[in-house]
Amino acid sequence: KLLFVRAHASRSIKPYIDTPETCLLFSVCRPCLTLSSPLSCGDHGQEWRGGQKTSPLRISSPQVPAIFFSGFWQSTLVLNCPSVNIVCVCVCDILTVLLYACAFLFLAASYTDSSDDETSPRDKQQKNSKGNGDFCIKNIKQADFGRREIEIAEQEMPALMALRKRAQGEKPLAGAKVVGCTHITAQTAVLMETLSALGAQCRWAACNIYSTQNEVAAALAEGGFSVFAWKGESEDDFWWCIDRCVNVEGWQPNMILDDGGDLTHWIYKKYPNMFKKIKGIVEESVTGVHRLYQLSKAGKLCVPAMNVNDSVTKQKFDNLYCCRESILDGLKRTTDVMFGGKQVVVCGYGEVGKGCCAALKAMGSIVYVTEIDPICALQACMDGFRLVKLNEVIRQVDIVITCTGNKNVVVREYLDRMKNGCIVCNMGHSNTEIDVASLRTPELTWERVRSQVDHVIWPDGKRIVLLAEGRLLNLSCSTVPTFVLSITATTQALALIELYNAPEGRYKQDVYLLPKKMDEYVASLHLPTFDAHLTELSDEQAKYLGLNKNGPFKPNYYR
Ligand code: NAD
Repeated sequence: KLLFVRAHASRSIKPYIDTPETCLLFSVCRPCLTLSSPLSCGDHGQEWRGGQKTSPLRISSPQVPAIFFSGFWQSTLVLNCPSVNIVCVCVCDILTVLLYACAFLFLAASYTDSSDDETSPRDKQQKNSKGNGDFCIKNIKQADFGRREIEIAEQEMPALMALRKRAQGEKPLAGAKVVGCTHITAQTAVLMETLSALGAQCRWAACNIYSTQNEVAAALAEGGFSVFAWKGESEDDFWWCIDRCVNVEGWQPNMILDDGGDLTHWIYKKYPNMFKKIKGIVEESVTGVHRLYQLSKAGKLCVPAMNVNDSVTKQKFDNLYCCRESILDGLKRTTDVMFGGKQVVVCGYGEVGKGCCAALKAMGSIVYVTEIDPICALQACMDGFRLVKLNEVIRQVDIVITCTGNKNVVVREYLDRMKNGCIVCNMGHSNTEIDVASLRTPELTWERVRSQVDHVIWPDGKRIVLLAEGRLLNLSCSTVPTFVLSITATTQALALIELYNAPEGRYKQDVYLLPKKMDEYVASLHLPTFDAHLTELSDEQAKYLGLNKNGPFKPNYYR
């Protein structure tokens, strides 16, 4: 990547370098002209500061690809930013044009990796090494790297690997055509490859515009999967990708695996006839499940659906443990914030909220909770958190985290009252919890300070730090623990197997929970990792409790 900067306009580089934490210093020395030099982004990438007119230069890292132009005007520059390889600082336009032409010719001949180019994947002709072009991703050349990511994930996904071993004998998904819309990560790739080993054909889109791991999508495409996703899709790309998954000649899905309900919604809206062939929907998220229950209540659900979110092995593990482990990671990577002593308010004390609160408390933060449900509110109190209304603490808190699955939890009024530097983020599925749209008004200035980090600046100079534009933080800005996702992915695979193979009449056009025995099976497949030794019921004990010795051990309503 090339960045050309006219010396006078050194500030204009700012919008082009979106990873300030690695772009520590950009410095131009021209002794006889007035330049803001050095121009550096803040130590933590949160602030750009125009420094004083100084020389000598502050340089330099040995790995830095840098070009020095020291000539008549003594223009010199340094760059330490992986998203830009070469920066040319020029003192006049003619020189800029000449340099541009030379560099273009040079790079056109030598540049091979187009991973960071700005062309939309939709405008590229794409083919994998076998000539298959039924996919749309960022860059197929990243496939080898993605394959290594998938192999690492496999190490932590023992249950799916166990299902694959079993699939050598039986193919419970033979003939299944699964269309999926989930986060496209290494863990999803392990799930997709397991479904394929179990006999299914898969087409996949991303359920979030930021969470796709491009290299993983490349590895999947190289492996023959029809994947339509890349990190940083636009809203229009998002629906286009879903449509490309569904709207294809000679292929009709008979199973849906959804996370958030967007894919299901799209098929309902655009291709309702497809439901004639669809045997069932497996839905992962609270939000998507909520939509399914609404459809069911309105009598509009036309196939059986499996609510995977409320499987004990999903909700009690993915929502709770995954968020407990990833909330800190997401906040750290984006803001480098220290947690000790910070005042944090967590909106919603469901499973996700519980995980976030536990992690922050362990780090020494002072945690407040808001809730609407008295039961969860009481749990928060008994766990030692102060239950408050948002307006009571909004002026004093350093971090606001939403995890309600609801909408407009943090509205403009609260954003106006937050203190300078307050970090605002969302851990819920949809970007509806923080009213981000209300911040797009002329009096507020938006400054992109890092990838996924925006400063929204009020006229009086107050700024809040908005993460991932209000989209879910951990999947947008960090990674999530593979082992927990293994549990969820196994639940999804078993739900697909159950719905696909269920005899006529077992499931009607309604929303179901995964049978408890399967829930327990998912857990048992993960126990060997811990060298855990499960106690077996004696005949006498089983009789006493009225249970089958092999389970299920709890009633269906057990949580
Ligand atoms: P949950 O239903 O268990 O918890 C949500 C809680 O928010 C409930 O207790 C509810 O009473 C409360 N709530 C609703 N509206 C509120 C409001 N206005 N103010 C305060 N509290 C309110 O759901 P959950 O399992 O905790 O999931 C929450 C969200 O997180 C969902 O959107 C879900 O899809 C998402 N999720 C995210 C991740 C992740 O990795 N980030 C993982 C799982 C689920």
